[in-house]
Amino acid sequence: MPNPRRAIPSVERLLQAPGGAALAARYRREHVVETTRAVLGDVRRAAADGGGVPPDDEILDRVRTRLETGSSARLRRVVNATGVVLHTNLGRAPLAEEAIAALVEAARNGVNLELDLASGRRGDRDALLADDLRALTGAEASVVVNNNAAAVLLVLDTLARGREVVVSRGELIEIGGAFRMPDIMARSGAHLREVGTTNRTHADDYRAAIGPDTALLLKVHTSNYRIVGFTAAVDLPELVAIGRAAGLPVVEDLGSGALVDLTAWGLPREPVVRERVATGADLVTFSGDKLLGGPQAGIIVGRRELVGRLASNPLRRALRPDKLTIAALGATLRLYRESPDLAAALPTLRLLARPLAELEAVGRMAAPLVAARLGDGYRVEVVAADGEVGSGAVPVVPLPSRALAIDHPDVPADRIAARFRAARPPVIGRVHDGRFLLDLRAVFDARELAVDLG
Ligand SMILES: *Cc1c(COP(=O)(O)O)cnc(C)c1O
Repeated sequence: MPNPRRAIPSVERLLQAPGGAALAARYRREHVVETTRAVLGDVRRAAADGGGVPPDDEILDRVRTRLETGSSARLRRVVNATGVVLHTNLGRAPLAEEAIAALVEAARNGVNLELDLASGRRGDRDALLADDLRALTGAEASVVVNNNAAAVLLVLDTLARGREVVVSRGELIEIGGAFRMPDIMARSGAHLREVGTTNRTHADDYRAAIGPDTALLLKVHTSNYRIVGFTAAVDLPELVAIGRAAGLPVVEDLGSGALVDLTAWGLPREPVVRERVATGADLVTFSGDKLLGGPQAGIIVGRRELVGRLASNPLRRALRPDKLTIAALGATLRLYRESPDLAAALPTLRLLARPLAELEAVGRMAAPLVAARLGDGYRVEVVAADGEVGSGAVPVVPLPSRALAIDHPDVPADRIAARFRAARPPVIGRVHDGRFLLDLRAVFDARELAVDLG
């Protein structure tokens, strides 16, 4: 019971009590002292507001809870019930088991990251992925960096620093998290030469913009929006023809970039890297952790001569991926080459391709479990919902899904959302039309939602 007249204990007194001594034995002493001070700070503020001072045992309980949960600013596992499969804020693609195993193996041991095992001489980390990328995209050569933004930066810095890059006004994208094509361009020292209008760009617009300062023609996949209505765009075959005629490389930033045609799994069509290479793009850039379903990485594939120039740019040294990324990406690429059932092997594809009947079944199992954790007055039902692929892939095509809709007559939806975010582990849903939804698209097992709601 809080008692207004009880004195606030000292850190020393708390840590000498049996409960405190047990904590000091389990954690680094300075960490326990710091956490105890923080809890006592809260107690002091509550006491100043007339709240009274709880007994020592209760204060120590709070210290223990805080030590066990750690800071919320730490990276923690969360349950993705947002309905967005590739959610940038939640770390995008879940990895395949093979990729996880490769990552752990590389983390624990030495690896031939830059060692040619045959000759014993220094090797090249890009060579470790080159065969797989060649086989999967048909491109002559490849280089891998830390993300696709870095890939675009490296291409522009290498090929267009101080010169002009021709881009359609309809393709000057901004991606969440401050990736704006004009800003990346400015950072690389390339000059943006916008052509056409927001809704219409024609082949002649490109031709008229080409001059002695032109370094390359850039096409950007409008991954997070579509321009509809009275529109015109120059498609890749035509742009390639313009580039060839002018002797200029054509670069395409595909964003997500699928390695396989997703329509085989009943999904909407996204550009396939191999097709863009075959169409004649000289370089294509795409992300490792979007539709590909691997770790964060930026992949550049294309003509050997251009890739060679990218690889020898000093900036490449600053953008290179580490052994963990290469291990996980290599294992993911091998699945594309070797697995007889890609959707079974690759969680991203499996999640995207799950039939609604399966989501419905997970929902029916999860509803009573969640209702039991929530307590009295809550209504939990399975409803139809619209999810999305996420990370800019097929943005205007909703991904039909099923969700648990959770209502309480006296608790607003955003309060329910906050309660799930505070759960162990946190569950991230969304509020839609005033209702809190837990989308089941990325939830494999009903028990994942049966969390401790405190
Ligand atoms: C996602 C995206 C990027 C940025 O890729 P990251 O891997 O997030 O750095 C760049 N261009 C396009 C078209 C994209 O869709």
